[in-house]
Amino acid sequence: MSDCCSAPGLMAFELALQQLLANVPTPQVSQLIAIENCLDRVLANNIISPVDVPPHNNSAMDGYAFNYQTIVSNADTPMPVVGRSFAGEPFTGTTAIGQSIRIMTGAKLPDCCDTVVMQENTVIKDGQLLLSKAPQEKANVRYRGEDINKGEQVFQQGHKFTAVDIGLLASLGISEVEVYAPLTVALLSTGDELRTPGEALNDGDIYESNRFALHALLQRLNVNIVDLGIIADDKQAIRDAFHAADQQADVVISSGGVSVGEADYTKEILEELGEIGFWKIAMKPGKPFAFGKLANSVFFGLPGNPVSALVTFYQLATPGIEKMQGMPFKAKPKFRAITTSKLRKSAGRMDFQRAVVTFDEQGHAQVSSTGTQGSGVLSSLGSANCFIVMSSEQGSVEAGETVMVEPFTSVFL
Ligand code: AMP
Ligand code: MG
Repeated sequence: MSDCCSAPGLMAFELALQQLLANVPTPQVSQLIAIENCLDRVLANNIISPVDVPPHNNSAMDGYAFNYQTIVSNADTPMPVVGRSFAGEPFTGTTAIGQSIRIMTGAKLPDCCDTVVMQENTVIKDGQLLLSKAPQEKANVRYRGEDINKGEQVFQQGHKFTAVDIGLLASLGISEVEVYAPLTVALLSTGDELRTPGEALNDGDIYESNRFALHALLQRLNVNIVDLGIIADDKQAIRDAFHAADQQADVVISSGGVSVGEADYTKEILEELGEIGFWKIAMKPGKPFAFGKLANSVFFGLPGNPVSALVTFYQLATPGIEKMQGMPFKAKPKFRAITTSKLRKSAGRMDFQRAVVTFDEQGHAQVSSTGTQGSGVLSSLGSANCFIVMSSEQGSVEAGETVMVEPFTSVFL
C-alpha cells in the first residue's frame, strides 16, 4: 500500500479513488453456475458464440417464399406453391426458380428461395401464387448469423450479467457460465449513542441508520453480508470486532469513529491490526474516510454522518468492491445543467451536492438543490436524483450558471 498518509492535509478525491483501486485485489476464484443463477454475477472469462444466431435463414413474416429471379421481368408471373415450411418443421423437398412455398414466421427458408412476400400481399388461385404487391428483392428474410456469428465474442471477462444477457446466453445454447465467487462483506457500526430501531432510546441516544442503508446497498451489489451489529466506542470491542470481521470476510466496512474525536478509534485500531492507506479526503460530504487492509481483508472506514457514509460508500467503496468482484472501473457519466438555486461552496474540497435534475420541453437540463446540505440530513439524499459535482477549486455558484451533474444510477432509489 502506498504511503499516502504522510502527505499533509487532505487528499484529492480523484487521487484517493485511483489509489484505492490500485490497492484492492481482483478475484482469483471462479465457479461454473447455471445461467438461471447468473443475474448480477460477474463473468470470469470471455464467451465466444458456439453457433450462428439465427442458425438458418428464416422468414420474418407469414407468407410465401420464392426466388426473386422469377419476377424480375414480370411481377405478375404465377408461381406454383410446391410445399410448406413451418417453424421447427422445415420443407424437406427441393424448389426451383419459378416455384414458391408457403412459409411461416421463423420457418427455415429453402436454399433456392431468397425473398418472402407477406400473405396480405398475395392471392392464391388454382394452387398458384400471384402477387398483389411485389416485395423488394430479399425482403422479409432473417439471415443466418445476422444477430451473432459463430466464433464472435459475445461477453467479455468482467461483464455483469443482466436479465437480457441471460436470454442471450440461452439463445446461444449456453447453459452454464464461469463467474467469480461471490464476495463476503462484513458490516458494523460504531458508536455508544447508537440504538437499533425497535429498542428504547435513552437520553442522548439516536437510532442508527447507516448499517440498514448500507446493508440494502450491499444487497444490490450482490455480495454475501455478515452483519456484526453495533460496536461500542471501546478500543478492545473495536479490536475484537475488526478481528472477527477480518476472519469471515473479504471486505470489512465500518461506519463512525473515523474523525479525530476522543472516542474515534477506527484509525488507531486499523493501524494496529493492518495498514492504513489514507483517511482524510478533500470531499464534501465525507472528509474522514479510512481505507486500509486487515490481515485478510480490505477495510473501508466510512464516516458516521449518514449522508457522508452513503456518499463515500457510493463514490469510493463501491468502485473498490466492484473491482474486487472482477468488474472494470467505469467513470460515472456527467452532463451540464443550469442550476436554478444558488449553491454555496467553499474552495478546498470537491462537493457532491444533493439535487434534483429535470428536463424542459426542449430537453435542456435544469438542476435544483435539495436544500440543506448538512451531512447528517439523510432526507437531502433521499429526495435527490443526482449530485451536483463541484471541483475543489470552485467557489459558490449563482442561480443561472452551468454546473456538472452526475445522475444516480438506481443505487440509492
Ligand atoms: P462519528 O463519525 O462517530 O464521529 O459520527 C458522526 C455523527 O454520525 C454523529 O452525530 C453520530 O451520532 C452519527 N452516526 C454515527 N454512526 C451512525 C449510524 N450508524 N447511524 C446514524 N448516525 C450515525
Ligand atoms: Mg462515533
